[in-house]
Order: sequence, then structure tokens, then C-alpha cells
Amino acid sequence: MAIERTLSIIKPDAVAKNVIGEIISRFEKAGLCIAALKMMKLTRQQAEAFYGVHRDKPFFDDLVEYMISGPVVVQVLEGENAIAKNRELMGATNPKEAAPGTIRADFADSIDANAVHGSDSPETAAQEIAFFFKDDEIFPRFD
Ligand code: UDP
Repeated sequence: MAIERTLSIIKPDAVAKNVIGEIISRFEKAGLCIAALKMMKLTRQQAEAFYGVHRDKPFFDDLVEYMISGPVVVQVLEGENAIAKNRELMGATNPKEAAPGTIRADFADSIDANAVHGSDSPETAAQEIAFFFKDDEIFPRFD
């Protein structure tokens, strides 16, 4: 199976709960490696651009406010089937529907403050990784 990269964000609610390490540990235990990582506070402009696809949704303004409400941890995860594997570890968007043992089931409070983001396709993964990281900030782990 191909080695893929995906973008993961530990969102402000999970950072505030002090579970950065627990979440990263789940990625590592599932065989994903951290190829890039930084902690940052998104600007309003960055949050609006990152979630631009949702611009017309009723939850867009609240989503932007939430994403800029505190620091986030942005990472590139690398490994076999990384995009789908990360989505599986995350669980459903709504934590009430997320499978037991998933990150959202364990750490998310609501459908909006839902602990993590993960790219949903190879195309969005490439775009989202380039949104946050330059090539020389990403360290291949599976040479
Ligand atoms: N979101 C929200 N209300 C909704 C649906 C989504 O606030 O009814 C937020 C939530 O933080 C979610 C993000 O918008 O993670 C992006 O939504 P998407 O449907 O892409 O879900 P994801 O890919 O994050 O599971």
C-alpha cells in the first residue's frame, strides 16, 4: 500500500483540554509518523481561507470564531493509507455519532468543537499541507 501524507489539526478545544500528547500518541500507535509539526494561532484570514469550502454554510462564522479562539497544533502525518487511517482514528464529525474509542468520541464536546481536523482526500491533503508547510519543513519518515 502507498505511503501517504495527510494534514491533521488538533483544534483549540483539544489544546485547551491538554490532550495534545494523547492525540499524537494515538497517531503513532496506529503506525502514523509525524513528518511536520507546529503550534500556532490562526488569523481570521487563515481560518476563513482554510475552511473556504464551507463559506456558504450556516455554521461558517461560528467555525471561524472557534478556530481562532486559541492555539492549534498543525501536523503532517505520514504512513500507509494515512488519509483514511487518520479519518478512522478521528471518528465522525459529530462526536455523538463517533465510534467508541475514536478521538472525537473521547475528546470532542460538540459537532463544532470537535477536537481534530483531518484531510479527506489526496487532493485536499496536498492543498492543506501546502497551506501550512513549506517543503523544507516536512521530513520524510519512510524513505
Ligand atoms: N462543523 C460545524 N457544524 C456542522 C458541521 C461541521 O461546526 O454542522 C464544523 C466542524 O468543526 C467540522 C468542520 O466544520 O469539523 C468541517 O466540517 P466537515 O463536514 O468538513 O467535517 P470533518 O471533515 O471535519 O469531519
